[in-house]
Amino acid sequence: MAFENLTERMQGVFKNLRGKRKLTEEDIAQVTKEIRLALLEADVALPVVKSFVRKVRERATGFEVSEALDPAQQVLKIVDDELTEILGGGESQLQKSPKIPTVIMMVGLQGAGKTTFAGKLANRLKTEENARPLMIAADVYRPAAIEQLKVIGNQVGVPVFDKGTDVSPVEIVKEGLELAKQNKNDYVLIDTAGRLEIDDKLMNELEQIKEVANPTEILLVVDAMTGQVAAQVAKTFNERLDITGVIVTKLDGDTRGGAALSIREITGKPIKFAGVGEKITDLEVFYPERMSSRILG
Ligand code: GDP
Repeated sequence: MAFENLTERMQGVFKNLRGKRKLTEEDIAQVTKEIRLALLEADVALPVVKSFVRKVRERATGFEVSEALDPAQQVLKIVDDELTEILGGGESQLQKSPKIPTVIMMVGLQGAGKTTFAGKLANRLKTEENARPLMIAADVYRPAAIEQLKVIGNQVGVPVFDKGTDVSPVEIVKEGLELAKQNKNDYVLIDTAGRLEIDDKLMNELEQIKEVANPTEILLVVDAMTGQVAAQVAKTFNERLDITGVIVTKLDGDTRGGAALSIREITGKPIKFAGVGEKITDLEVFYPERMSSRILG
């Protein structure tokens, strides 16, 4: 699971405080230095590390050490609060449009897990809300991507609208939305193209799709394993598309987890779900508080 090293490092930090009756300024300096290193090692983006450490230092310096409370516990509480905060505070639910269909657009780099996530979300909406989603295959650059979405659609029993690779993605989306209106689908999930890296052509196309689809949610799918790159990708996609939320995938892998910790602070947008495996049910609602507890062990 992600964050193993970070958890170990954090536990080390608090172990050194255990048994102390009072915290000196030096203790606090030492603790914040260790936390800083632990976060950097976990591949958290530097500006996020800096602001995190500053907040912890301010709060730890500010409190009166009460006789009743163990200083290690108090600092742990501060770190837990601040971790929860940079992970987004409370959970963020999927927004719904007042009028059906609610259109959800999936964006991200190739291989991040967009198509897989589209299937997981369709399955979740179907099983938990009894919804009738339609998926639109708008990645015309990779025939395999369309095929993959169809296979997933089949697996979860959700129809997939496609027009092969000869029609423009914008046209496909228009037609798909028409169909959804006719069929009274309550959700439309659009799987868009990704590339190996961000380029202008991709962004232009996504902007055009956004314009015709008028989505309630634009969810950026990022691979947790890519660490700082994921944070940078999130920044750029957010600037161009004004995304509404982020999905962090592959948190089940042996990742250092920094992406999950950086994204909220860098984009101001919430992480809504976490992908925790390749199976269709390997999707979790993202709860900042639980994630923080998990990290602190
Ligand atoms: P896309 O190019 O963004 O559509 O990415 P895909 O959905 O094709 O996913 C790329 C690879 O990542 C596939 O092999 C997926 O099975 C895998 N994958 C997606 N999400 C997860 C996840 O949460 N955990 C793990 N371990 N693998 C994932």
